[in-house]
Amino acid sequence: MKILERAGEQPFVSPQEAARIGALEAAQIGDWELDLATNIMRRSALHDRCFGYRSSPAIWGYQEFIDHLHPDDRDAVEASYATGKALVTQMEIECRVIWPDKSVHWIWWKGRFYPDEQGHSVRVAGIVGEITARKLHEDQIALYSLITQKITTPVILTDLLGKITWVNAPFETLSGYALVEVLGRKPGDVLQGPETDKNTIRLMHEALAKAQGFAVEVLNYRKDGQIYWQHLKVDPVLDHQGVITGFLALQTDVTERKRFEALLWRNANYDTLTELPNRRLFWDRLEQEVRHAQRTGKLVALFYLDIDRFKEINDLFGHEIGDQLLIEVAKRINACVRGSDTVARLGGDEFTIILPQLEALNDGERIAQKILASLTQPFYFDQLRVEVSASIGIALYPNDSPTTQQLVNNADQAMYMAKTHGRNQFCYFTPSMQIRAQERLHMGVDLRQALKPDQLRVFFQPIICMASGKIVKAEALLRWQHPVQGLIEPAIFIPLAEELGLIGDIGEWVFREAATWAAEFSRQGQPNFQVSVNMSPLQFARQMGERSWPRQLQEMGLPCKQISVEITESALLQDSRLVIDTLREYRDAGMEIALDDFGTGYSSMSYLVKFGIDYLKIDQSFVRDMAHKNSRTIAETIIVMGHKLGLKVIAEGVETAEQMHILMQAGCDYVQGYLFSAALPPEEFGRMLVADRCAG
Ligand code: C2E
Ligand code: MG
Ligand code: MG
Repeated sequence: MKILERAGEQPFVSPQEAARIGALEAAQIGDWELDLATNIMRRSALHDRCFGYRSSPAIWGYQEFIDHLHPDDRDAVEASYATGKALVTQMEIECRVIWPDKSVHWIWWKGRFYPDEQGHSVRVAGIVGEITARKLHEDQIALYSLITQKITTPVILTDLLGKITWVNAPFETLSGYALVEVLGRKPGDVLQGPETDKNTIRLMHEALAKAQGFAVEVLNYRKDGQIYWQHLKVDPVLDHQGVITGFLALQTDVTERKRFEALLWRNANYDTLTELPNRRLFWDRLEQEVRHAQRTGKLVALFYLDIDRFKEINDLFGHEIGDQLLIEVAKRINACVRGSDTVARLGGDEFTIILPQLEALNDGERIAQKILASLTQPFYFDQLRVEVSASIGIALYPNDSPTTQQLVNNADQAMYMAKTHGRNQFCYFTPSMQIRAQERLHMGVDLRQALKPDQLRVFFQPIICMASGKIVKAEALLRWQHPVQGLIEPAIFIPLAEELGLIGDIGEWVFREAATWAAEFSRQGQPNFQVSVNMSPLQFARQMGERSWPRQLQEMGLPCKQISVEITESALLQDSRLVIDTLREYRDAGMEIALDDFGTGYSSMSYLVKFGIDYLKIDQSFVRDMAHKNSRTIAETIIVMGHKLGLKVIAEGVETAEQMHILMQAGCDYVQGYLFSAALPPEEFGRMLVADRCAG
C-alpha cells in the first residue's frame, strides 16, 4: 500500500484513511486537494501517475496542474473550475493531459469546493482517473458510426498493415463487394488496380508511412469486372495520442468525369474525322522523337504527304466522299508504317508521318514507296471508284534540319517539289530547295512590281492544223523577264500570282496584249487569226459587267472569234453560276473555249457539253508517253470521244515525228509543240507566220 506523501510532513494514516486509500488504489483512482489560500496541491501517487509521473514531482499549485493539460482543453477546465469555485460546488470534466514523454492521455477529473465560514471557497478536493482506453474504444465506435451513418461516399477502413477492417454500405454498392468478402484483405488486392497504377499506389504508401494524407485517381475493378475511376483520398487514422492506428480511404466514383476529360483530351489531340493525331499531338510527338534521337544518335525521318488534286475530288464528288476518302487514306497510310511511327493529319488533305529511330536512309524510302503504291490502288465508295495519288516530301533530323520547325518546313518544301515534278512521287529535301523557297518569297515581292516596269512579256506558240500543215492559231504564253534572275517560267510564278491575288491584274494584261497582237497578226496577212489565252480559275470573278472580255474586244474593234480562252478542268469543277454565265457570255459573243491539260483532272464528259467547250487540249503527258500503250490509248480515246461530242482536239507538247504520226492516224485536228516551234516573242512569231503563209 502506498502512503500519501505530504510535502515536508511525516505521513500519518488513520484506519479510515487507509481504507479509503485502499479503495482508490483498487479502482485505480488518484486523489488530490488544493488549498486555495496557500496554492499548495496535495496529490496521491495515483494522481501523479495519471499525469505520467512514476515518482511524484515537486510542489504543484493550480498553475502546474493547468500547465499539464492539453492546450486545447485548458479553457474548458479553467471555466469549469471558475464556476465550481464561484458557486462553491462540484465540477467534473473529461480532458486530455500531456505526459512528460509528450504522449497524450485522457483523464476524468472531478472535484468539489469547500467554503469557509463566510461561504467562500477555500479548498477544493477531488479524484482523477485515466480513461484513455475507454476513449480509444469510443473513438473507434465513433469512427465506425460516422462511416456507417454519416458518410455517404464509399469508405474503406484499414488497419496499420492496410488490411480492411471496415467498409460502409456505399462502398458495397459501388464495388459490388460485401463487407464480409473484403474483411482482412488489402484494397489493392480486391480492387486490382491495373499495372499503370502501381507506381501511384507506391507513392501513396510512402506518404502514408509518413502519416501524410494522399489523394490519387486510380482505375479500379468492380466485382463484376467493370472498370471505374475513383478519386481516392487516404488519411491515416490517429488515436488521441497521435499514433496511427489505421487508414481511412474515402472513395469517389469519378468515372463520368474521367470519361469527359478523356473526350476533351481526344478532341484536343486527335482529328475527329480520321482519328489520327492532330497538329497539336503531332508537334508533341515530333519534339519527343527529336529529343530521343538526340540521345540515341539515330535518325528521324519526317514525311509531309499531300493528296494530289484533292480539291477536285471534293468539288466533283462532294465533301462526303472527300471525307470518306480521307478516312481511307489515313487507314492505308497507317497500314504501311510501324506501330511506333506517328501518322498525323495536319488538316485538309495534309498528313505527316514521323519515322523515329531509322537505321538507314533507304528504310524511309521503302516506306514512302509503299505508301504511294498503296494510295494509287482505287478506292471504292459504293458504286463509285475514285483514284488518287499523293506527293511526299521527306526531311531528316538531324541531317537536314537542326530544329523541329525547320524539319517540318523542309519536308513541306520537299513535298512541294514532288508536286512540281509531276506528283505521285516522293522527294527528299535538299538545301537547294531551301534556297528556292527563299527565292519564292522574294519573288512574291518582285512579282508585285513586275507589271509596272514592263518585265512581263507574252510569247506566242504556233498551233498547226493537221490537215493543212499550216499555222492557224497561236497560244499566248506569259514570260517574266526578271531584272536579276532572268527569264522565269510561268509554272513557277503563275501559282504564286494566284496565291498572292495578283493573277487578276496579270491576266487582264495578258488578255489585252494577246488581243492587240491578234489584231496585228491579222493585219500581217492572216485574217481572223485566233490567239488563245490561258485563264486561271480565279479570274472568273473579274469577268462580270463593264470590263468583261467580250466588251473589251468590242471596244477594240476585234471580232470575238479571234480570241479563244483556255480553261482547266478545275474551273469547271466549281460549277458555279459565275463560271456558267461567264462562259455563256463568251460563247454568245463568238469567243471560243478550249479545255486545257485534258485528261489529268476529273472532268466528266457531261461537262464538255454542259459548258459548250469547243476544243480539247490533250495533256502533254499523254503525248510524251505515247510510246506506251496506256498513254496512246488515252490520247486516241480522247480524240474519238471529243469528235463524237462535236469538239476539235489539239495535242500539246508534240516533240517528235513519231508522236505526230500517231496523232495524225488517230485523227487529231491540231498539234502544238517543240517539233514545230517553242513560244516566240511576238515580232519573231509574226515573221514566222508570214513565212508560213508564203510557203504555200
Ligand atoms: P499550258 O497552257 O498547258 O501551256 C503549254 C505549255 O507547254 C507551255 O509552257 C509551252 O511552252 C509548253 N510546251 C509547248 N510545246 C511543248 C513541247 O513540245 N514540249 C514541252 N515539254 N513543252 C511544250 P509554259 O509557257 O511554260 O506555260 C506553262 C503553263 O503556265 C501553261 O500551260 C499555262 O497553264 C500557264 N500559263 C502560261 N501563260 C499563262 C497566262 O497568261 N495565264 C495563265 N493563267 N496561265 C498561263
Ligand atoms: Mg494553255
Ligand atoms: Mg496545257
